[in-house]
Amino acid sequence: METGWAWALAGLGAIAAVRVLTKRAYASSAVVRAYVLAPVDRPFTADETQLLIARWLMGVNWITDKVGSGRTLNAEAPPVFLTLPDSYGYVRNIAETGDVAAYVLQQLVEYVGRRPLDTELWVVLTRGGGGFAGSMPQDRFAMLGDVAIESILGNPGAVIDIIFPEIPRQDKWGFVTPDAQTGALVHEVLHLVLLAPDLPDSGIMGSWDLWPNVDVEDLVLQLASTSAFFA
Ligand SMILES: [Zn+2]
Repeated sequence: METGWAWALAGLGAIAAVRVLTKRAYASSAVVRAYVLAPVDRPFTADETQLLIARWLMGVNWITDKVGSGRTLNAEAPPVFLTLPDSYGYVRNIAETGDVAAYVLQQLVEYVGRRPLDTELWVVLTRGGGGFAGSMPQDRFAMLGDVAIESILGNPGAVIDIIFPEIPRQDKWGFVTPDAQTGALVHEVLHLVLLAPDLPDSGIMGSWDLWPNVDVEDLVLQLASTSAFFA
């Protein structure tokens, strides 16, 4: 039943793709697409799905409000939920020992039938992705794994030992709250969309864990002012 439901949403994704391609004939704007991937044996419940959709929208709306300077981030909403052909253990093992970003990108390329277009960026949440959180602008792709997902879903105990292994447990609960990891998602989106660098300050590119009460660096505002991903 869960799988059939995932495929139903996948169909909506295909419709959205047609709509955006049509829109490109009229506007030069580019679009950020979001995907949420679940291993075949660890599907998201209806409640979890709603939480992840809500947090994606919160992040996107925050970027529009705080970064857009009157322009809107062109982001697909809600994300497209897909089921991976592999088990949680299989995906998590890749996260621990291999290149989980490459695995996820390959899965999406097979699903979509191509790599991201020049006018398109893919942001992906992957259950089984472990502690991975990174942006790969050369591949037009960013991904976050279990730390982001389980923190957003209110399961910090599931990931407290994955995040920042070098930091003592008692000092890092603040990094695995729903807000902190929504900040991590926003941070990776800004890396990908604006090519914004990490910055040593209290802004979103330095202190994402303080989201939503975090400053936006002047450089980020400046990069957004000329970005084709805002309209
Ligand atoms: Zn960063």
